[in-house]
Amino acid sequence: MANLYIKNGLNEHSEPIEILIKNGKIERVGERLVDVVADKTIDLEKKSFVTAGWIDDHTHCYEKLDMYYDDPDEDGYKTGVTTVIDAGSTGANSIGDFYDITRNKKTNVYAMINVSKNGLLSQNELEDMSEISLPEVQDAIDRYPDFIVGIKARMSHSVVADNGINPLVEAKYIQMKLRKQLPLMVHVGSNPPELSEVMTVMDRGDILTHCFNGKQNGILDENNEIKNFVQDGYEHGIVFDIGHGTNSFTFHTAEVAKKYKLSPETLSTDISHSSRENGPVYDMSTCIEKLLVIGYKLSEVIPMITTRPAKNFHLDLKGKLEEDYDADITIFDIKKGRKELTDSNDEVRITDTLVLPRYSIINGHVYTIGGI
Ligand SMILES: [Zn+2]
Repeated sequence: MANLYIKNGLNEHSEPIEILIKNGKIERVGERLVDVVADKTIDLEKKSFVTAGWIDDHTHCYEKLDMYYDDPDEDGYKTGVTTVIDAGSTGANSIGDFYDITRNKKTNVYAMINVSKNGLLSQNELEDMSEISLPEVQDAIDRYPDFIVGIKARMSHSVVADNGINPLVEAKYIQMKLRKQLPLMVHVGSNPPELSEVMTVMDRGDILTHCFNGKQNGILDENNEIKNFVQDGYEHGIVFDIGHGTNSFTFHTAEVAKKYKLSPETLSTDISHSSRENGPVYDMSTCIEKLLVIGYKLSEVIPMITTRPAKNFHLDLKGKLEEDYDADITIFDIKKGRKELTDSNDEVRITDTLVLPRYSIINGHVYTIGGI
């Protein structure tokens, strides 16, 4: 594999950065590299940004489902995302098939295993508690130890029916008993179960996805303040993940949270083919633009899609531009322009800052985006 020299780039703080890639790994990084011998050079002329490859830690890309599905490459390298983590589309019965059909994708694909053995084959996968089985989850993790990076439980009324908090208690039990430590991602939505009950079961390092939804069972009380138990859980170390999706991100909730200094730890799309094609998600760039328009800095957003998801899901060679890390890199432009951004409640913000991915580099392979 050829050496690749990325020259005259800017990091997320707009400081100079140059990178030399060799054999799919990062060989050297610095403000300016000297004595570089490379087969190929990409000169960004101090106009484009270079960050570690973007990681989307909540996607739905098992193509054989009917409702929430997508081609991981459509969510991935074609949009600047070098790694997608599927959030529980598959359980013990289907995760092997998911593994098989994603091996020839250009994008790095990982999965959280749904605690329900059938995953999202139906939308009420935790209605029948007998679908939750520790031995089957353990067996799947033993078979695919490098693919399965977390556990997923969806805890909203339409999913759990009359089981209340019980499926989450079971999921937590499974997590504690597994021979390998994996993060537990919990989807929250309509009640019951109450968010307060859900957060009581969750612990430091567990991931609360859909954290900025606009639902009554969300993080804000009727006075538009952060509920006390939410603040307590946040301070305790529960990871707040955006998981935008069709129904789960509102500017209002995100703005109130920002006012109270409750920042999301990670930014994810919860993308599937429908929310990609019809919105309101579209792609990771659009989600970045939404955080920028409510006042986050680029340097605050980039860790949400690089270092932090890599750390949470133990992707030890990803998320940073450092020597010997995987050569997963995203190159993008920030340009002035006008765009309407729509949240899950059809609220609109107008941005004048556009995020435009140019290249995805995955394990040293360069993919040009959008015909540039
Ligand atoms: Zn989801």
